[in-house]
Parts: sequence; structure tokens; C-alpha cells
Amino acid sequence: MKQYEVEEDLPEAPIATTPSDVIHTASWRTFRPVIDLKLCTKCNVCWKFCPDDAIGFDGVGFPVIRLDYCKGCAICAEECKPKAIAMVKEE
Ligand code: SF4
Ligand code: SF4
Repeated sequence: MKQYEVEEDLPEAPIATTPSDVIHTASWRTFRPVIDLKLCTKCNVCWKFCPDDAIGFDGVGFPVIRLDYCKGCAICAEECKPKAIAMVKEE
């Protein structure tokens, strides 16, 4: 996959083309992403990279993880430049 230099290099749409609502993917997740809103810049990069379209937004533009569909792959945490997403082990 081509590396990107700045957020403007990314496409407007997320990488996922099939909505997660088609398949519940959360049953086998071992780690879940937890967002620290104090560090989040609302850049939407996590939404763009999520392969399962499992990230939505609240009324003021912060990302919200849709845990019924998030598989815990940690791609969002890896791509979040401010490191606002921590992967926390499921109980
Ligand atoms: S990538 Fe990080 S900073 Fe950007 S919207 Fe997602 S959580 Fe916030
Ligand atoms: S952990 Fe993976 S599936 Fe879950 S929100 Fe992040 S990128 Fe999407």
C-alpha cells in the first residue's frame, strides 16, 4: 500500500466499501479501541482506515467506535498520529 505523507493525501471516503451492519464482527475481539477525546483532533483518519466501517461520529464530530462491529484489529490506533486511541484488553 502506498504510504501517505499528509492527511490531504487520503481519499475522502473510508477504505471499507461494505457497511459493517451486514456482518457482526465483534464476537471474537480480544482488544477494543478506546479513544481519549482530550487528544483527538477530529481528523477522521481512523474512520478512513477502519477496514470494517466500524467508526461513526457523535454530534460534535468526535469518532465513536461501533463495538458491535469493531474486530479489534488496531489499525485505527496505529494510524492515529496524536496517539489518541489505546487498545484495551477485553474483560
Ligand atoms: S485518528 Fe485519532 S485524532 Fe484523528 S479522529 Fe481518529 S481518534 Fe481522533
Ligand atoms: S480496531 Fe479495527 S475494526 Fe475496530 S475501529 Fe479500529 S480499525 Fe476499525
